[in-house]
Amino acid sequence: MANVILDNLVKHYGKTPVLHGIDLEVSDGEFVVLVGPSGCGKSTTLRMIAGLEDITSGQVSIGDRVVNNLEPKDRNIAMVFQNYAIYPHMTVRKNIGFGLRTSKKSKAEKLQRINEVAAMLDMTELLDRKPGQLSGGQRQRVAIGRAMVRDPDVFLFDEPLSNLDAQLRTQMRLEIKKLHQRVGRTIIFVTHDQVEAMTMADRIVIMKDGHIQQIGSPFEVFHKPANQFVARFIGAPPMNMLEGRYQQGKLHLQDDIVLDLGGRVFSAAAASKLAEHPQVVIGMRPDDLRVTSEPGHFKGEVALIEPLGSETLVYANVGAKELIAKAPGRVPPTAGDQVSLAIESELIHLFDTRDGVLIE
Ligand code: ADP
Repeated sequence: MANVILDNLVKHYGKTPVLHGIDLEVSDGEFVVLVGPSGCGKSTTLRMIAGLEDITSGQVSIGDRVVNNLEPKDRNIAMVFQNYAIYPHMTVRKNIGFGLRTSKKSKAEKLQRINEVAAMLDMTELLDRKPGQLSGGQRQRVAIGRAMVRDPDVFLFDEPLSNLDAQLRTQMRLEIKKLHQRVGRTIIFVTHDQVEAMTMADRIVIMKDGHIQQIGSPFEVFHKPANQFVARFIGAPPMNMLEGRYQQGKLHLQDDIVLDLGGRVFSAAAASKLAEHPQVVIGMRPDDLRVTSEPGHFKGEVALIEPLGSETLVYANVGAKELIAKAPGRVPPTAGDQVSLAIESELIHLFDTRDGVLIE
């Protein structure tokens, strides 16, 4: 069992900086997901933890031991990649056992351990098969089995589900989460898919351009995004954003729309920021913006609807802007309808236009 601490981790490729001082503490047994757009530095961070990339500066500790100068094999970690290399000519038993090739255990102990891992992954029946006789999900489980068999302190996953079709990804997401609950090991998981991050993580680390933007539980990053980038990256469809000006409890938006915040009380810090710089970007989640038969805050014309079954996404033209809202699934509006949209003022996010940081 082990925690993982990254202390001011910096990476340059030649003269190009790609990580600018990453600080992160992953607790023992925690499931942490690194997420962000392609090229933001997720894999590089993971590979530095694994020992597969040199560290330009900073420190990586695993289980209170600085591992900067330790070989990957001495870090007691196991890594599962997107292109899991399982050997087609070997049985599942041999493929899983491959993880033990350098172990000093006896043959009987190794077989015992392979059986334990196969049972944990529900693969006992498949031990004599070869990869060609397995489904994509089963092959992925073999790769995970090979990582598990050495009983590492830390599992590192690098986009392991990216090559699977949508249905299988959803299934594997659940399997990995259940496995974590059962085995209780520390997991650091890299993905560019925010849904994967939200559904699996205890905590999410959102990265952009080699910087951490926010670290928090799925609940925190969704409901209290630290800045506009996080607000747009987490949640689908993305948060609606409008520019406006705050004045005495009201937001003055485009097309002479005035949004009364209904006596919403701001913290002292937020109030002083708004007084100093009243220009804001307001963010409204499509989930929070409801199509209503009451007067509402915005009037618009429905351009398009997307029925999702239990609810319907409504794309409405409000002046020059398009806003995305939600309507109940059973009685949705149709294209061309005039609709009102409403939101509780407490659910409106205000961002500073200067740096995109959340005001409140
Ligand atoms: P992510 O995993 O978030 O997609 P990476 O960690 O793979 O991002 O890459 C971060 C940045 O580092 C990217 O801009 C990428 O082009 C650059 N990079 C990655 N590997 C190398 C390398 N071996 N040489 C030079 N630049 C690299």
